[in-house]
Parts: sequence; C-alpha cells; structure tokens
Amino acid sequence: MLDPSDIEAKKDALIATARRCFDLKLQTNAGGNLSVRLSSADAIVIKPSGVGFAECTRDNLQIVHLDGTIEPSPFKPSKDLDFHLDLYRIRGDIKAIVHCHSPWATGYASAGREIPCLTVQTIEKIGRMPLIPLSENGGPQTEIEISPVFKDRSVRAAVLANHGTIGVGKTLMEAQYLAEIIEETAHIAFVRDTLLAASGERSADMPSYGTAAEAAAARG
Ligand SMILES: [Zn+2]
Repeated sequence: MLDPSDIEAKKDALIATARRCFDLKLQTNAGGNLSVRLSSADAIVIKPSGVGFAECTRDNLQIVHLDGTIEPSPFKPSKDLDFHLDLYRIRGDIKAIVHCHSPWATGYASAGREIPCLTVQTIEKIGRMPLIPLSENGGPQTEIEISPVFKDRSVRAAVLANHGTIGVGKTLMEAQYLAEIIEETAHIAFVRDTLLAASGERSADMPSYGTAAEAAAARG
C-alpha cells in the first residue's frame, strides 16, 4: 500500500539529490534522470520528462508501480522509465538509481572506451564500470542493453556510449556518489592519458595499484 509519509520522505530525498547533481554540474537542467524505490509498495518515485534536476518538487515527481502502472500525473513519463523499472525488477538490492549525462564520463564512453578504474577508491570500491554501447538500431540504450550488464550483482556503475552514466545503490546518496566518482575518474583518466600521450608513454607501462587483497597477499 502506498504510504504518504514514505512517499514524502523519498520525494524529499530525490529533490535534494537532484539539486546536488545540478550544483556539481553532473547534470544540466535537460536530460538525465533519477529514481528511488518506495519501502511501502512495489513502486518508485521518479522524475518525469521535461522537469529539470533543479526543478523537482513534491508536486511534479511521479509514482510508478514496478508493473508499469503510473499513478495519475499531469506529466509525461521519462523515456528512461523502462530501464529504471527493469533494474528494480531484476535486482532487489537496488533501491535508487542516478542517471546523469555528465560530460567527462560521457565523452570517454562516446570514444568507445571503458573508463579505467585507476584510482585507489575506484579499484577497491567499484572494480569495473562497464561500457554499454548504443542499441542495435543506433538509438539510445534501453533495458535490452542495460539490464544484462546489471544482472551481474557486483556491477554498481556503468557508462552509456553517447549518452551518460548510471549509478545504483541502497540509497539515493549512494547512487549519487557513484555518479560523482564515475565523472571524477573519467576526468582523472583523461588527464593521465593526455599527459602520457604527450610524452609518448603508455598507461600499460605505468605501475598499477593492486587491490587491498592483492596487497595483503603480496605482503604475505
Ligand atoms: Zn539519459
């Protein structure tokens, strides 16, 4: 059953997260999307189409059931609604999704490159951020391309070629931190690769950081 206090709390969390993404320039006021699972029902709160990240209010966010039923709303559902719903259906551990069109990460992915997890934080906390190519007809990625990647329960972040990023988590804050880390890592990787290319070196020639487990094993 839909619980009004649950809905209110989730809407407020979504509004705050969207504002943080906007303030950090992870998302301009056009495109991107974010959603959060309700605790009281098999349903989510999601930003509708045509509402910017800086314009979310309790009155314009939509409630959508996981079977696709949309609670009455004057707004159009987002184009991304289907992939959000499908991720919640296939992964019970996913309670929130933040999808941004952040420029460094999207630029990296649009060059057909997976963003390397090269920092201590990304190696230890994320492991891999798979690159999901455009759909077969050249259109934007849908649940057909996105869900198979997230069926691997270790995947928490992914990047969509020519499109944007996806971070998932147990809370909106967790998913949003991933959106920040993906963007930060793409920026760091770009600086590294540009400097290496300028001096004719390759990243493969550089020392690489091992995971904590590998480091412990090496220490014996
Ligand atoms: Zn998008």
